[in-house]
Amino acid sequence: MPELPDVERFRRFFRANAAGRTVGALRADPTILRNCTPRTLSAALRGRRFDEPARHGKWLIAWTDGPALLMHFGMTGYLLWADDEGSTRTEPHRHDRLVIRFDEGGELRYRNMRKLGGLWLAHDPDEVSGLLGTLGPDALSVGRAEFLRLLARRRGGLKAALMDQTLLAGVGNLMADEILWQARLHPTHRVESLTAEERLQLHSALRRILRQAVATEDYAEDRPGWLLHVRGRPGASCPRCRGPLSRMVAAGRTTYFCQRCQP
Ligand SMILES: [Zn+2]
Repeated sequence: MPELPDVERFRRFFRANAAGRTVGALRADPTILRNCTPRTLSAALRGRRFDEPARHGKWLIAWTDGPALLMHFGMTGYLLWADDEGSTRTEPHRHDRLVIRFDEGGELRYRNMRKLGGLWLAHDPDEVSGLLGTLGPDALSVGRAEFLRLLARRRGGLKAALMDQTLLAGVGNLMADEILWQARLHPTHRVESLTAEERLQLHSALRRILRQAVATEDYAEDRPGWLLHVRGRPGASCPRCRGPLSRMVAAGRTTYFCQRCQP
């Protein structure tokens, strides 16, 4: 399931392949478009050149020299690139919900089996702000002072707070568990009862984990000391204290934690 570090990877992938290229033909599955039709999307993007893409939380904002295409990857979305040369040229898959052909060659494909998330068209920066308007600051770049201000206004369970996109954009189920485990805080601990020290611990864990995750290709595999590396595996033990991992439902999601490290 794409979390902030995955969407950051998609952003870099988009930049490496599609930025600087001009939209030629475009084919879209109407059921993945949230505020336009294949015809209006095509009319808006044809002849436009993609610029440096941006990301906010789990959203990718693909700017052109005019409108922007906003992508959300839901549970199963990702991007692919198809070159025109010989063996690398493959036919689109039935889960390719958007296929963009570029005048310079090559095709960008947005594949999304389960069709959660979706695609939005924004004609200008105001429309982009309107679409992302309810999101909190991006979790990768939120500073300490701002983070403390956000927490000060918040009540209720810690995991629910971290995953609330209107408080902070980008933290999903896996990242929330990792942050809480590394910060040694229980998932249902209440935000209002955190000490000043725990608030700082939480922010430094958030910052460290997201930065390290965007710096590695496959953060679950490349970070053996992390909870993510073992979560969900049968009989998994805590990578820190070797005690048994516990499982519960917090914020409506399957949650892994260590009772010993996260009292
Ligand atoms: Zn432990």
